Amino acid sequence: MAIRDFFKGATEIGKAMGVTLRALGEKPVTTEYPKEAVPLYPRFRGKHELRRYENGMERCIGCMLCEAACPTGAIYVEAAENDPAHPTSPGERYAKVYEVNLLRCIFCGDCEEACPTEAIVLGHEFAMADYNRRDFILTKEVLLNPGEPNVVIRPE
Ligand code: SF4
Ligand code: SF4
Repeated sequence: MAIRDFFKGATEIGKAMGVTLRALGEKPVTTEYPKEAVPLYPRFRGKHELRRYENGMERCIGCMLCEAACPTGAIYVEAAENDPAHPTSPGERYAKVYEVNLLRCIFCGDCEEACPTEAIVLGHEFAMADYNRRDFILTKEVLLNPGEPNVVIRPE
């Protein structure tokens, strides 16, 4: 009985060591974040961005559809009439105030789905930790950053 238990135990240890040795030759599945960049899927929904057209004009026309579509009330838009001599956006109106409250946002993407001009998109930035609650409210100035003309549209 004791000898049979000994061989059974030794077989099990051998099997376990086999698994360990096989895994030694495999590529690690973990990433040493933040030293290494984490691979993201193309449709990953991270921090919001407001886009511009190639000519620098803001895409947002202040229609507030994103605000209406947001299930958590995370978006606040205040629209104003464009100055015909120096329009901010191609529409009649533009967003004078545009805010996203990250503490309310659930990153569902409904705002970008609702936007008729593809102005608001969820980018790839996910490191959003901060110290003050106020800093989690992204203002228009922050959302327009990097502010360069950008017409990249989320791949289908
Ligand atoms: S991602 Fe969803 S929850 Fe967040 S602001 Fe957009 S619509 Fe609202
Ligand atoms: S981001 Fe889009 S949906 Fe929201 S107010 Fe601007 S144009 Fe309208």
